[in-house]
Amino acid sequence: MEGSELVQEGIESALRVASFKPFSDFTDNHMHIDPINGEGIEAVKKFERAGGKFLFLVCKTTKDCGIELKNEKSFAQLFDFTVNLSKQINEKTGVKSFPVLGVHPAEFAAMCGKFSVSKALEIAEKAIDIAGRKISNREAVALGEIGRPHFEVEHEILEACNKLLEYAFEAAANLGCAVQLHTESITEKNFKEFRKLADSVSLDPRRVIKHYSPPLIKAAEGSGIFPSLIASKENIISARKESSRFLMESDYIDDLQRPGAVVGPKSVPKLSLQLLNEGIFTEEDLWKIHKDNVEEAYGIELP
Ligand SMILES: [Zn+2]
Repeated sequence: MEGSELVQEGIESALRVASFKPFSDFTDNHMHIDPINGEGIEAVKKFERAGGKFLFLVCKTTKDCGIELKNEKSFAQLFDFTVNLSKQINEKTGVKSFPVLGVHPAEFAAMCGKFSVSKALEIAEKAIDIAGRKISNREAVALGEIGRPHFEVEHEILEACNKLLEYAFEAAANLGCAVQLHTESITEKNFKEFRKLADSVSLDPRRVIKHYSPPLIKAAEGSGIFPSLIASKENIISARKESSRFLMESDYIDDLQRPGAVVGPKSVPKLSLQLLNEGIFTEEDLWKIHKDNVEEAYGIELP
């Protein structure tokens, strides 16, 4: 950062404090909206009523969207579905949504069984190319969620997941966009692993966003990677003890068959306001978590 930018940022932050403007525009960094199996736009309205303003709309699986998985064209359909849904959200609510497109690791693992592992990898890489074109057309902002399944898989599948991850990191480096990572539960050493992978393809580590991150904020900061934390009280309080360099997410899955599988659509704004009232967050923390960190991780400006 240039010195003048630092001064500018200092002035902005001083103005925020001086004006006592209560923070209002909350960001949910990882949300799934499912108009087929869930509440769809109604869930976004709940988020909005709780104070939500921005959400990163992560695509679901082809199956969730009623698409038969045959080849990479099935992913093109899934991405169109997600981009269209994002447009509807932006038209019908006061929330601005940003599409995030990728091949979910659980879907990729299933593909390895349905096709051969090498065929699955070929399809998934082509899907990343399609997502990349949508990002360069500004129809979407980031790649994700991508990485490794949270459950155990055969070694050959795990190797393919890592190859796909490297492919996605390389695509993100070329596009200058962010990647939302989905992985098994990780420790400090994995932040180093992902930093190393980012360096190997010249991807800015800040563009790597660890979805469902543990509250290892200092470890993430040391690696440059941005952690995104589930909005549960214990998790966020533990994170804030280290610093406010993190994002918040609900990982809402919007599936009426699985109520309470994760936290609800209101959880990010609701918990943020609660922690502010309890003196655990300051107004400045809210500006950082819901705006500055988001802009730095994605390399975008929130309106
Ligand atoms: Zn997710």
